[in-house]
Amino acid sequence: MKHINIAIDGPAGAGKSTISKIVAGELGFVYIDTGAMYRAAALYAIEHGIDIKHEKDKLIENLDSIEIDIKHTENGQKIYLCGKEVTERIREADVSIGASDIAVIPEVRLKLVELQRTLARGNHVIMDGRDIGTYVLPDADLKIFLTASLEDRAMRRYEELKQKGIDCEFESVKKDMAYRDKNDSEREFAPLKMAEDATLADTTGNTLEQSVEMIKEMIKTKMEQLGV
Ligand code: C5P
Repeated sequence: MKHINIAIDGPAGAGKSTISKIVAGELGFVYIDTGAMYRAAALYAIEHGIDIKHEKDKLIENLDSIEIDIKHTENGQKIYLCGKEVTERIREADVSIGASDIAVIPEVRLKLVELQRTLARGNHVIMDGRDIGTYVLPDADLKIFLTASLEDRAMRRYEELKQKGIDCEFESVKKDMAYRDKNDSEREFAPLKMAEDATLADTTGNTLEQSVEMIKEMIKTKMEQLGV
């Protein structure tokens, strides 16, 4: 049986993971959050006192020690770093910035891309990230580039953090997001870019429900076309 691969790319805070998770659950796909892998790698550096921007060589030397696992449980996806669960910790601001900095390093990307491709094999998957349609799964059956205005994306992230009880300022959330957008789009190796054969989905002004419906319809139409 043919396995369907859906690639969802876009800038930080566009709603990729929230939407992908819901749609994957409803349509019976496995959801793979590649950002979580870059986040886990960044946390490894932080916990081992490795300065990501200035100690690249040290990081590369330690690459084999960075063990990342994703487990799918009834309560959602859990991320493990070297056997320890880090699902919540990797959402904090220092790890977000670290992930964007570590994602510039080709050796790190190659290691994580291998893991991503292995996970995609043999499953119907929705995989989200920055380079899924352009690099990780260039033959994906459907490629979606999900975006929204910086203001909207930063506001959603700010409200999500506040809801979790994390103390933060809107302006600093917005600044961090703009930093990551720039870093992700300007890096040399596999930058954030819309694939030529991707469909643009702009969620500016949408409620979450509207965005979920929009993406679900795109995927269902593709499944019908493929006769799955
Ligand atoms: O998607 P998320 O915000 O969790 O990703 C964290 C960081 O990981 C991004 O800012 C980006 O730098 C990096 N990333 C990447 N390629 C991916 C997924 C994430 O470079 N496929």
